[in-house]
Amino acid sequence: MATNNWDKEADLLVVGAGPAGMTAALVASLEGLDVLVCEKAAQVGGTGATSAGTLWIPGNIQSREAGFSDSPEDAAQYLEQLIGGDRASEHRRIYLRDGPSVIDYLSERTDVKFLPCGLHPDYRNNIAGAGLSGRAIIPENFDGRLLGKDFERVRPPIPEFLLMGGMMVGKVDIINLLGRYKSLSAFRHSVSITLRYLVDRLRFRRGTRLVMGNALVARLFYSLKKQNVPVLFEAPISEFVCEGESVAGAVVKSPDGALRIRAKKGVVLATGGFAHNKKYREAFMPHLIPIYSMAADTNTGDGVQLAEGLSARVNADNHQGAAFWSPVSVTKRKDGSEGLYPHLAMDRAKPGLIAVNAAGRRFVNEAVSYHDFVEAMYRSHETENTLPAWLICETRFVTRYGLGAIHPETKDLSTHIKDGYVTVAEELRSLAEKIGVDAEGLENSVKRHNKFAETGVDQDFGKGDLELNRFNGDASNSPNPCLAPIERGPFVAMAVWPAEIGCSVGIATDPDGRVLRDDGSAISGLYACGNDMSSAMSGAYPGPGTTLGPAIVFGWRVAMHAADKVPRTAAD
Ligand SMILES: Cc1cc2nc3c(=O)[nH]c(=O)nc-3n(C[C@H](O)[C@H](O)[C@H](O)COP(=O)(O)OP(=O)(O)OC[C@H]3O[C@@H](n4cnc5c(N)ncnc54)[C@H](O)[C@@H]3O)c2cc1C
Repeated sequence: MATNNWDKEADLLVVGAGPAGMTAALVASLEGLDVLVCEKAAQVGGTGATSAGTLWIPGNIQSREAGFSDSPEDAAQYLEQLIGGDRASEHRRIYLRDGPSVIDYLSERTDVKFLPCGLHPDYRNNIAGAGLSGRAIIPENFDGRLLGKDFERVRPPIPEFLLMGGMMVGKVDIINLLGRYKSLSAFRHSVSITLRYLVDRLRFRRGTRLVMGNALVARLFYSLKKQNVPVLFEAPISEFVCEGESVAGAVVKSPDGALRIRAKKGVVLATGGFAHNKKYREAFMPHLIPIYSMAADTNTGDGVQLAEGLSARVNADNHQGAAFWSPVSVTKRKDGSEGLYPHLAMDRAKPGLIAVNAAGRRFVNEAVSYHDFVEAMYRSHETENTLPAWLICETRFVTRYGLGAIHPETKDLSTHIKDGYVTVAEELRSLAEKIGVDAEGLENSVKRHNKFAETGVDQDFGKGDLELNRFNGDASNSPNPCLAPIERGPFVAMAVWPAEIGCSVGIATDPDGRVLRDDGSAISGLYACGNDMSSAMSGAYPGPGTTLGPAIVFGWRVAMHAADKVPRTAAD
């Protein structure tokens, strides 16, 4: 395509306004580049807006200052053992080296600020080098009102994560809401966030007190606005404009027609990976292709496809798996549409719940990470139908802890039974028959599990053995915070399916995010970051923040490279 007749010109064109793209755009602007962002959707945030917003940054200063020690050397050892020395080792080295300073850079120079999570165990503390605290950070809550009318431009969280149709709550809020009658401070906190929400609703379609991933993307967007970086909405990239073998710019569709945009320092692909692209799902997902995805529906693999068109390398060879997983249950929303609830941390680890396959047999330590749970589903499915798997508990469990999108304190399950979200029966046998699971198998599994609950030792799968298990369990339950008998009906069953929260396979890059061809040479003028970039974790899931950490660190490196501010060689 001709390299003249440009409609617009910038130093850097960033494609996609999720956490990765917005970080690259923000840093490039701070480093003096003239930046333009084009976003396919009508709002910023992508999958990041619906995420928990946690970043895994070993050695971060915020945690150290709060008194949580950590060692990046231990983290390196942990990753080496978890992932394997030969996989993306240079990316990992640089990720660990730069992570803390990237967070400091953002915290000092922008409104993208973070808080330490404190105790938040890595997901495999049975591997040497795993940490218990000091590695996970979360964005500070954000006041959406600061964005003025552009608050509407922030993609909202999934409805399943909202209270009263629009109030966001983080972990601290949930603890306070559940304990509101037990302490004055919890009561005050609950009243204050609820009143704030009710006042918000007089002016806004949802609460403006943003937490987790929504706070992260709103903070990035707010900082971009302060830097006067323009974002073109409903403006997907459609093709590159090349000069010889270099990318000189791109064509972007927009409500005003196609725009030819010159990008003197390069084009950054940050379109969130191939989640909703059938061809790539079939090519890369190693198992039975999952039906569901938690990724933003605009993530249709445009970046990967365009890069492949320029002979970029995209393959799954260097990955343990193609994606990062979570079990999800399928909800019925008020408007009749289907939603997905990711079972990340709230229910599986609690005492009094097991997961079984169609034979009624347990197949996993239910309290492992969401990623490991789905990996176990796939392993179990090789011999027994485990798609879906079934979460089994008593109705008392649901009232106490909640189950999926059903909040704790729910006593009446009738709506959820009617719309098929849960199945309930007085006896385990009839429950099994209703959901098509082997009844004898289920009864035996529950009987055996109940014995483990008595001793506190799960001899089959070790539920409660990992720090992560206990972290998400119920500390008031003994002898094991993750084990309690399932003995009194009515009993409840909920189906869970695999879905990805992000892709791991992506475009091969060097640690500066420069897109690489099969022969290892870089395509001049083309970068990738976020889930468009082949993950530095190679499909392994070390701890909370496995995708957002790299999205932000490598987004920063892309910008620094485009601005000629990073050491020339990765080893420096
Ligand atoms: C429920 C849930 C919880 C999660 N929690 C965490 C967590 O706590 N920590 C963590 O590390 N990860 C978490 N994740 C995963 C994380 O959200 C994603 O991995 C992350 O958002 C990926 O960032 P990204 O910028 O690459 O993509 P996205 O956030 O998906 O953004 C991509 C953007 O690109 C845009 N786009 C797509 N195609 C085009 C195009 N052709 N032109 C222009 N724009 C385009 C999209 O519209 C979108 O806005 C979670 C995910 C879910 C679903």
